[in-house]
Amino acid sequence: MALFDVIILGGGPAGYVCAIRCAQLGMQVAVIEREALGGTCVLWGCIPAKSLLESAGLAVKLGKAAEHGITIDGITLDFGPAMKRSRSISAQNSKGVEFLFKKYKVQWIRGEGVIEKGKKVSVTLADGKKETHEAKKAVVIATGSRVKGLPQAGLELDKNVVLSSDDVLVAEKAPASMVVVGAGAVGVEFADVFAAFGTKVTMVEVAPTILPIEDADCSAELAKAFKKRKIDVLTGAKITSTKVTKTGATLVVEAGGTTHTLEVEKVLVAAGRAPNVEKIGLEAVGIAKSERGFVKINPKFETNVSGYYAIGDVAGNQMLAHKGSREGHVLADLLGGEHPHLVNYNNIPSCTYCHPEVASIGLTEQACKDQKLDYKVGKFPFSANGRARTSGETDGFVKIIRDAKYGEILGAHIVGAHATEIIHELVVARENEFTVEEIDLAVHAHPTLSEAIGEAVLDSLGKMLHA
Ligand SMILES: Cc1cc2nc3c(=O)[nH]c(=O)nc-3n(C[C@H](O)[C@H](O)[C@H](O)COP(=O)(O)OP(=O)(O)OC[C@H]3O[C@@H](n4cnc5c(N)ncnc54)[C@H](O)[C@@H]3O)c2cc1C
Repeated sequence: MALFDVIILGGGPAGYVCAIRCAQLGMQVAVIEREALGGTCVLWGCIPAKSLLESAGLAVKLGKAAEHGITIDGITLDFGPAMKRSRSISAQNSKGVEFLFKKYKVQWIRGEGVIEKGKKVSVTLADGKKETHEAKKAVVIATGSRVKGLPQAGLELDKNVVLSSDDVLVAEKAPASMVVVGAGAVGVEFADVFAAFGTKVTMVEVAPTILPIEDADCSAELAKAFKKRKIDVLTGAKITSTKVTKTGATLVVEAGGTTHTLEVEKVLVAAGRAPNVEKIGLEAVGIAKSERGFVKINPKFETNVSGYYAIGDVAGNQMLAHKGSREGHVLADLLGGEHPHLVNYNNIPSCTYCHPEVASIGLTEQACKDQKLDYKVGKFPFSANGRARTSGETDGFVKIIRDAKYGEILGAHIVGAHATEIIHELVVARENEFTVEEIDLAVHAHPTLSEAIGEAVLDSLGKMLHA
């Protein structure tokens, strides 16, 4: 048995960031992780998916090379090398976390952990040996989440025809046809990737729009862009029957009063994830879960049992890497006796890295209506932005919703190239309660995509210049 200040169960972005920060603050830390370091984000999520999206973006761009006077004969699309590239970037990032653990003297205990009473964690190591460790200050549960199938719709994951995001991230080739069930960020991103590699993609979404949590204007703009790319989208859709064979699947889908029979080679189930709350000892320690099945925490990440904390996907709220890592950072500061700014769950950026990208912060226009807020909208299209014209990426817009009286930024929504980068001006503004007038004070460089933010701000004040 070894004694640590803090033991963290799970080495994903929530757990590993918490570990590094605790170590920086002088605590002795161990991380129990059964896979490589980096969690879903590094191994099966953000990083490999974004690498594939980069390949997809390049494939789409090369299709327009002739406009630039560049003639490329005989372009072939091969998913395998793109997949291998994504795996190597993922492995490189995981090694990066390993390097940081060595640098900060965080101990990685490779194995399957179970929390026990008395701030203990037992670990079954790769060779089957068991050991138990004890924490003086805290046990942090950061076990994340995992893919899940849709057995209620006859779509049990089988690694052959009915696939999860984990499975398609190691696929050797793009199938001829695919149904993507679920049009949240993960579904939309993979629809984008496979369509770029030549797959005939149909998206099936139960909600009335794709990216249902985003502002309705953004969902509609992306649906328009996907239509241009011949990605079929069925929204308000219900799967009424499913037949899966060894070589493909047939789905009958009711949408918009029409019955669609979809015969495809593969089905990707991208309809949500399940928190890893099973077999980690929650019941034995007496740790409570929320109604939705996540570990229940307060704003300081404390569970109902003293000395046990939870962060990241397993603790609910937005299931995003940057939300989890911020929680890990803040928890470490709290454990180190600092007085950090707690996590503001109303100001976590939401980013989808499809083409065009979608990024947002704060309230949608519908939420403003539901809350009966007095608001004004400013909107600027990228078709009127010089930089977007130079790159030929003119789809999309910036939409800013401001409080009518005080100019407070209630919400900001961007569809367009690099939307996930330029949103941060508005994240900083909103976190610091800047008004639209204060954004307007800042000179935006020309020609940049960020100028569209300045123009949308002006539009919300009735003073737009370039459209
Ligand atoms: C395809 C895809 C794309 C995504 N893209 C983005 C994106 O672009 N941006 C974004 O912000 N988010 C994205 N996400 C979500 C993001 O990956 C997660 O929100 C994030 O990884 C959660 O971090 P975490 O540390 O809470 O958990 P995880 O990353 O899930 O890490 C938990 C770790 O705990 C380990 N573990 C669990 N139980 C045990 C145990 N008993 N013993 C030992 N180890 C254990 C697991 O092996 C895992 O490594 C994406 C997800 C997917 C699936």
